[in-house]
Parts: sequence; structure tokens; C-alpha cells
Amino acid sequence: MKAGILLAAGASERFAASCPPEFPPAYRNKLRFPLPDGREVWRWSFDLLRDGGFDKLIVVTGDPDIARAAEREGATVARGGSSRGESCLNGLRAALPVEVAVIHDAARPFATPNLLMRVLLAAEEHGAAVPVIPIPDTVKRCTEQEVLETVDRSQLRLAQTPQAADAGALLAALEKDLTVTDEAAALEKAGIHVAPVEGELTNRKITTYEDLRGTLDREVRVGTGYDVHRFGGEGPIWLGGVEIPSDLGLIGHSDADAVLHAVTDALLGAVAAGDIGRHFPDNDPALAGARSDQFVRYAAEQVRALGFWINHIDITVLAQHPKIAPHAEAIRQSIAQMVGVEPGRISIKATTHEGLGAIGRGEGIAAMAVATIERLRLGSSH
Ligand code: MG
Repeated sequence: MKAGILLAAGASERFAASCPPEFPPAYRNKLRFPLPDGREVWRWSFDLLRDGGFDKLIVVTGDPDIARAAEREGATVARGGSSRGESCLNGLRAALPVEVAVIHDAARPFATPNLLMRVLLAAEEHGAAVPVIPIPDTVKRCTEQEVLETVDRSQLRLAQTPQAADAGALLAALEKDLTVTDEAAALEKAGIHVAPVEGELTNRKITTYEDLRGTLDREVRVGTGYDVHRFGGEGPIWLGGVEIPSDLGLIGHSDADAVLHAVTDALLGAVAAGDIGRHFPDNDPALAGARSDQFVRYAAEQVRALGFWINHIDITVLAQHPKIAPHAEAIRQSIAQMVGVEPGRISIKATTHEGLGAIGRGEGIAAMAVATIERLRLGSSH
């Protein structure tokens, strides 16, 4: 019988302090940070253990959301301790009786199944195993004031997780000494042989946002939209979700809001999801006279569903009349609220058509929009 124990009880203060200020609050807890495939950091680490063929899974955490999600996957939840050693001991006790225990840091999401297998095989052979990597930099021993010496690093290694050990030996070692910073250290102190296994450079421990940034790229996409509606009937008209006084109305199947239709197409275009007519056919009786904000909200939802956020929307209205400037601020506020961004990310401009062509003759209104969206994705260094 072997147990996988995930330590997910750490605080995230250093990570929160290191996050870019524009990040939403959900991104400030390192274990809850949503990686580009939608799984949070802790979940990546958990899934490694879940798929690792363990008889028991223990998650040590004080986070109720992590606890609920882990229990749904059949894991047992143990409470975190005041130190890493104590958290590990709590997890180990929750796993008993068991022969082999694997301890993994939830903050190491990039450990691979291959590494887990190597550690397990080495522990089977030697009783305990820890993945290590060499130190590439020259190592100095220093005080605050001076360098004391250059340390011979040929035998120095950085320790990672997952670590594996005979559960009884680890329990006895931890019960004797809880001050250790990893499980192998407790075993070493108890005089038990621990085998080193080659670790992975990509198996970084996430402490600050810097540790994640190297693995993440920003993917930027741009979409454009254009729409035109003909004047006819009586006003008022709707532009950008704002009612604007006008003697003439605009003709359309819905409320003929050319600005919102252009914005909808720009957002759909940015995620290559076709055009507004594909999602909202203009022969659908349910949409007759419909308010167009629903189209924009729908398109913004399509953007978010793929993990993107909206960085910016830039709109140009082409019209001889009415004047847009007096309504520009209201339109910015209106669209910002529809797509869930601050108004500073919405731009609205207007131009006449200098009397040229149909727009210039005042036969209708046209609108163009450009939407810029972004998401994080795993970079090539991962
Ligand atoms: Mg339209």
C-alpha cells in the first residue's frame, strides 16, 4: 500500500506581494493561481498524485475550496500544522496504515509522472529517495558584510519533491524532529539512508510570481468589427447601449445599435468565433427589437470561456449626425459595464464622412471596433 500526500497548507504572502498589480485577487494565492489550462497550481500537483496509482491520497490544507475539491476526488483531507514537519506528520498519520509514503509540495505543479516513477522505484530499492538537481552557480558563504569563502559545490544539490520513503521510518523520524524543511532531512537526522534521484530543472517551486512568469507567455489577439444601419422611421436611436435623441430612427431587426454590433463582431473575431449573424440570426423572431447589450455580453462570455480577458476596445463611429461627443462618456461607461472592464479600457471616437457617399449623405450610421484580448499560456520553457 502506498499513499500520496500533498502539502497544500503554505501561506502565499510572498507570492501575493510579487504579483503584477493588474492581476485580479484570485491570482494572488500561489496555490490557487489558475494556470492556462484552467487548473489551479495545487490541482496540477494533485493530479500528478491522483494519476500515480496510489492506494490513498491525503491533502493537507486549510483552504476549504481545495479541501472540497480534493474530497470530491476521493482524497482524505488533513489539517495543516504550524510547520512543514507538522503538516507532513498530520498527513502521514491520516494515511496510516500504509507502507510507502510519497510527499509532494502543492507549489511544485510542473513535476512530471516520469519523476514520480523514478522516485518511487528508488524508494522501493533504497527505502527512501529524494529528487535533486545540481547547483549551476558558484556558491559563496557570506555574512552581511563579507564573503567568507567559495564553497565547493561539486557535492551540493537542491532538493525537490516528490520525495518517497518507508512510511514507518518517516513517521518515527518526524515524531523525533519536526524542525526539518523537508522529509528527507528528518530521515537523514535519524540516520536513515536516502537515495538521491535526478530531479527536473522545470520542477520549480512557486514562491513568487517570478517563479511562474518564466513558464507563462501572454497570448495577445486582436479582432475587428464593422456594422452599418440605415436611417428610417422615428428616433430615438441606440448607440453603444445609450439612448440618443434623433428625429430619424435606425432600421434593423434588433435595436439597430451599430456600435454594439461592431463591438460584438470584434470580440467574436478575436476568438475566431464567426460573426454576430451566426450566433443571433436576423430572422429570429425572438430577437425582433431586442436590446443589443445581450449580444456584447454573450461575445464577452465567449472570450472569457477561452481564458482570455479583454484588454481594450477601440470604437470609431462614422456619422454625419447626430453628434456623438456629448454621449461618448455614457457610451464608454455602458460598454465597460457590459464587458466587465474599467471604462479606461474602452475608447470611443467619431468622425463625419465629409459629405461623401451614403454615410456622408446622412443615409445611415456605421461603426468600427477593434478588440484586443489576452490570456496566459504555458511558454516554451515549460
Ligand atoms: Mg447590425
